[in-house]
Amino acid sequence: MQYEGQICRPPMERSSYMLPVAVGCSYNLCTFCTLFKHLKYREIPMEQIETEILRVKEAGGNPKQIFLGDGNAFGMSMERLLRILELIHIHFPACTEINMDATVTNLREKSDTELKRLFEEGVRNLYLGIESGCDDVLRFMKKDHTLTEAYREIERVKTAG
Ligand code: SF4
Repeated sequence: MQYEGQICRPPMERSSYMLPVAVGCSYNLCTFCTLFKHLKYREIPMEQIETEILRVKEAGGNPKQIFLGDGNAFGMSMERLLRILELIHIHFPACTEINMDATVTNLREKSDTELKRLFEEGVRNLYLGIESGCDDVLRFMKKDHTLTEAYREIERVKTAG
């Protein structure tokens, strides 16, 4: 796998196949987070993603669980996310679970119908950077959500599946 930056993923994803679909974080402003500060955010071209999928397939890979990198992959457009999910299902028929990092804002920017569609296409776990239950701390850390917004978006994503 070609990878730019420091690999960081939730412990529950330790045995997932990590498929990079972007470099860095499109937000990249949280004061405590140094993971991607040195990187300029960019989406990896679709041809490059497909080449990586084919490389793993040709090596005999057919992962059950896939983690999409990097910092907030859920922020990508619906069109792009659906194309990536489609490629995964075409080439990895054993895959039952596609997971990724997300922000509260990423959720807010997707409609209820879009959230449901992504669930239907195999998205199962979003790792959401809530970070704190105190609004003053969230402001201090330059998170782009309030606690109330976080609660609201979590309810929406639960309703979507
Ligand atoms: S949204 Fe996540 S990955 Fe991006 S800067 Fe904040 S903590 Fe880091």
